[in-house]
Amino acid sequence: MHLDNIRIVLVNTSHPGNIGAAARAMKNMGLSKLYLVTPKDYPSGVAIGRASSALDILDNAVLCEDLTEAIADCSLVVGTSARSRRIPWPVVDPGTCAKKLVEEGQQQKVALVFGREDRGLSNEELQLCHFHVQIAANPEYSSLNLAAAVMVLSHEIYQLKEQLEEGNQEVTESWDNDLATVAEVETYLEHLEQMLIQIDFHDPENPRHLMPRLRRLYNRVRVDKMEINILHGIVSETRKMLNKLSKK
Ligand code: SAH
Repeated sequence: MHLDNIRIVLVNTSHPGNIGAAARAMKNMGLSKLYLVTPKDYPSGVAIGRASSALDILDNAVLCEDLTEAIADCSLVVGTSARSRRIPWPVVDPGTCAKKLVEEGQQQKVALVFGREDRGLSNEELQLCHFHVQIAANPEYSSLNLAAAVMVLSHEIYQLKEQLEEGNQEVTESWDNDLATVAEVETYLEHLEQMLIQIDFHDPENPRHLMPRLRRLYNRVRVDKMEINILHGIVSETRKMLNKLSKK
């Protein structure tokens, strides 16, 4: 059992101290892959100080321009959210989140995404995720410090790994084909959107959440690589046919 395919993504972090403390929490819990999306103040001595003996995690951290880049090669993405958002998304508890990440992480790359200290993740960023995870906390003040949230969820992952290794829990999910990555599903959705515009089903001027809803549907189904190729083929041939017909 390994945790090498599980990455922690911190989006647009303001305080470098939180980046250092998150790296330390990760190392304590056996995680190693840190991705930083446009951190506001980084590299920083403050981050180094707070990381203590987890400097290797900071040294190997991958800097990205946006969330899509940080998760492109992942098949599963879980976003963290302290509060519920407008379009409902499947929400899991920390234990279920750990199970999904550890199990799928044995074969494929998976990500756990954390938001900004002041505003969390945007709706667009949350809609790129397959699931949202909420840490149950005092309803009067349920927003944890960023690094504390990283610690709680990393600890769940560590505990679950221990239980799986001791045989106290069984691996329940498996699939014969590799699942499609975020980048593969996104490319397909872009082509699908073009086709939906062509047949006047979708008006980009008045989108009515169509694309987020379709993304939620495909992400809920968890399409595999073969299925996304079939879907892609159907859309490409349909678009070719539409272009031929419109020339006649
Ligand atoms: N004010 C922000 C909260 C930001 S807290 C908001 O309303 O969304 C900073 C980050 O810590 C969050 O983006 C999330 O990644 C994590 N976090 C804090 N509390 C959490 C909770 N209860 N459950 C899950 N993640 C949480």
